[in-house]
Amino acid sequence: MMMQANQDDILNNLAAIRARIRAACEKVGRHPDEVKLLLATKTVSPERIKIALASGATLIAENKVQEVKDKYAALKDTPHTAHFIGHLQTNKIKDILRCDVACVQSLDRWDLAEKLQQKCAAAGKILDVLIQVNTSGEASKFGVAPHETLALVRQVAALPNLRITGLMTIGLLSDDLAQVRACFRLLKQLQNDIQAAAIENVQIQELSMGMSGDLEVAIEEGATIVRVGSAVFGAR
Ligand SMILES: *Cc1c(COP(=O)(O)O)cnc(C)c1O
Repeated sequence: MMMQANQDDILNNLAAIRARIRAACEKVGRHPDEVKLLLATKTVSPERIKIALASGATLIAENKVQEVKDKYAALKDTPHTAHFIGHLQTNKIKDILRCDVACVQSLDRWDLAEKLQQKCAAAGKILDVLIQVNTSGEASKFGVAPHETLALVRQVAALPNLRITGLMTIGLLSDDLAQVRACFRLLKQLQNDIQAAAIENVQIQELSMGMSGDLEVAIEEGATIVRVGSAVFGAR
């Protein structure tokens, strides 16, 4: 059984993840610098997050607003960039903005976009967003439906305080790698479709996909951000 990782484990695990990223890039002729490692830090204490940040990690993300509020004050003197990767209720937007989250990766609906726009305008802030797509079709997953993605991108592109920088998805949780790969391939296809539509103010550079169990497949299919939690910090 996987245990919660101690300090040495975290450092070893980080090195192992970086090696996996390099190997996956090499396999498909990509440069490792094209893939950013984002640490998914849900349930991980600020002390343990700091161990990873001290070892060269820079990008962290929570998926619950409560954890952002509870933990980020303790990290404010440790350089890092914070993204948000969980379902976001509109009444919690102010907490995200107050805690200096640089990018919301989970923008998946118009009412959230409208409210984000209002709050960012009031705060005089431009927020990076990724559009979360439900590529697996599972009813339990958040995300805009693939066929509605381009329309949502067009709408969000017109909002002056939001800057769409990419797409995010959670692959199917399955041992069938072909089905997992199909999710990632679909996200890449949507990126191509959006770029082909040449929408003003939209540059879809980032594809946030791949986690501890499937990051190689995601990198093979074009991931630029992999989100890794348990493979670094151990069991939750
Ligand atoms: C927890 C989480 C991850 C990381 O999952 P692991 O399997 O622990 O690597 C990635 N993305 C999201 C949205 C998450 O909530």
